[in-house]
Amino acid sequence: MPTVKEIISCLETFAPAQYQESYDNSGLQIGNISNEISSVLLSLDVTEEVLDEAIELGANLIIAHHPLIFSGIKRITGRNYIERVIQKAIKSDIAIYACHTNIDNVSQGVSFRMAQKLGLIGVKALRPADISLVKLVTFVPEAQAVQVRNAIFKARAGHIGNYDCCSFNLQGTGTFRPLEGTNPFSGQVGQLQLEPETRIETILPDFLTNQVVSAMIKAHPYEEVAYDIYPLKNAHPVHGSGAVGELSAAVDSATFLKTLKEVFNVPTIRHTRLVKKQIKKVALCGGSGSFLLKDARRANADIFITGDFKYHQFFEAENDIIIADIGHFESEQFTLEIFYELLMKNFSKFAVRFTKVNTNPINYS
Ligand SMILES: [Zn+2]
Repeated sequence: MPTVKEIISCLETFAPAQYQESYDNSGLQIGNISNEISSVLLSLDVTEEVLDEAIELGANLIIAHHPLIFSGIKRITGRNYIERVIQKAIKSDIAIYACHTNIDNVSQGVSFRMAQKLGLIGVKALRPADISLVKLVTFVPEAQAVQVRNAIFKARAGHIGNYDCCSFNLQGTGTFRPLEGTNPFSGQVGQLQLEPETRIETILPDFLTNQVVSAMIKAHPYEEVAYDIYPLKNAHPVHGSGAVGELSAAVDSATFLKTLKEVFNVPTIRHTRLVKKQIKKVALCGGSGSFLLKDARRANADIFITGDFKYHQFFEAENDIIIADIGHFESEQFTLEIFYELLMKNFSKFAVRFTKVNTNPINYS
């Protein structure tokens, strides 16, 4: 049976914790990373009903989109549902893990899944992720270039869009003189060595630097490895918040709203005036996405679909975009499919179930 740690590593290879917003609290909230997991329950929120369902099913890990614990808790006495869930989860030995804004901010995450449900094509992030990128350059004897390059790629450097193993390689001559006390891979102590080397350069997110550099050093034949790390000003080429894409053919806007209701199973949509007769370009953000309205307008989207818009914010459509609020829960409902697919692809030894509890606190009458 996989451990909590292995399951987290699977989810966070897809949605690294470093991509979460500064206010967020994604990660393991309750439990021990070495616990073995026999069965998982997936839910957008962790409520008392969801925890009871996990107990009934014998699931010892709940994976949720929204963190149960968001801010500091000074006492746990059962005054509110959060404290009661904490008490009961610990007593029942159930681990709780949240994957929140990190899965909002990665390509193929929450908003990309919404785009997929609507059949959009050419989907990109609406706002690039606020993650620093670095360039790593190293110099390797030609014969060992392949092994060093492979180690760097295995440590997850060299991803650009839907390409991995991206690097540039240049042949040249390295020089060095091994001094007293060295044990050089090539050359003689005290003599200047001219070595045919390959300069390998690649790109990676800054937070992977330590991991990639140590993998590189391990694979490198030299006892003193020469390498450079350059900070970059590039925007993130893939990951980011929200998504924008196009319908394969323009659709009448009233018809599009009808489709939207069906796809997201919402009885009603709050929207601004249908200032666009036809919809072709669609911007989306799962959850509370009003902070991306400017980006949606800048992208020239015909409609911006999200949740949690407030009255005054609807005016900010300025008659050049349609804002469609389909509800926070509804916009994020397909996130659980992403968790499910990742777990099914990577593990075979345990059951993964979707909660049967509708945790949406908002009802429509
Ligand atoms: Zn949310």
